[in-house]
Amino acid sequence: MKIISSIREMQVFSESARNSGQKISFVPTMGYFHDGHLSLMREGRQRADCLAISIYVNPTQFGPSEDFEKYPRDFERDKDLAGDVGVDVIFYPEDKEMYPEHYQTYVNVENVTQNLCGMSRPGHFRGVTTVCAKLFNIVKPHYAIFGEKDFQQLVAIKRMVLDLNMDLDIIGMPIVREPDGLAMSSRNVYLKTDEREAALNMSRSLKIAKEMYDRGERDVAAILAQVRKYIERHPHTNIDYAKICDTTTLKDIGYIEGESVLALAVKINKTRLIDNYVFGNRLDV
Ligand code: AMP
Repeated sequence: MKIISSIREMQVFSESARNSGQKISFVPTMGYFHDGHLSLMREGRQRADCLAISIYVNPTQFGPSEDFEKYPRDFERDKDLAGDVGVDVIFYPEDKEMYPEHYQTYVNVENVTQNLCGMSRPGHFRGVTTVCAKLFNIVKPHYAIFGEKDFQQLVAIKRMVLDLNMDLDIIGMPIVREPDGLAMSSRNVYLKTDEREAALNMSRSLKIAKEMYDRGERDVAAILAQVRKYIERHPHTNIDYAKICDTTTLKDIGYIEGESVLALAVKINKTRLIDNYVFGNRLDV
């Protein structure tokens, strides 16, 4: 397994893989791997000859009062896990390589980034789409694999790739959960025992919504009332949003007709977690 920190070197590596007829899969990450990350890598391994990942905690997607500095990092552990799933190359750049002096170009996907996390994390998606556009130009993949855990991110990246005619396929993969239902996240390490208990209310509330939907309920207000009630009964929790949106536009809806997603962002004391459920899908909770 190669570890590359230089953009030029990564581009040369990918170009030569492409020239020898290889297909490249790519999984962008911020590191501190869990099974969710590894499931994307396994999918990438299946799809292509060459599996590239990136580990980069991207400063432009964090707000000034967010956890950029204390975001968990453990490169040595990540390297071993990546080796185990058959990664060929890790792109592991430094900030000054990605954003050198005089850097001033950003990609902004307009409509689908307005709602949900776009409301509470201004500038977040601009950072995400910018770094992904850069990484696609650096790694030159045929396939890039993202988790549905970050549903709005996946929608924004798909939109960017379509709108800017980028020549790659974006693949979405299901949310990987802990045995008790908690969606895996690098930020779960922040949770103390009683906070973790509170966090479980998120996936459990998705299950309540799923059951209401399966019984025929389509009224958004009725479903959200139950979801909120369930989450808020725990003292540590503060709902940032609980919404049901159309999966293409990510606009709020009042009644479930087409494909719709229930998206949650909840602060458990200081830790902000997200989770979601697309109605009609499986839910392993
Ligand atoms: P991150 O390192 O948090 O930026 O995540 C890197 C990729 O892993 C993104 O595409 C995420 O959506 C995906 N991911 C994170 N958590 C999960 C999960 N529990 N299940 C599936 N994919 C995930």
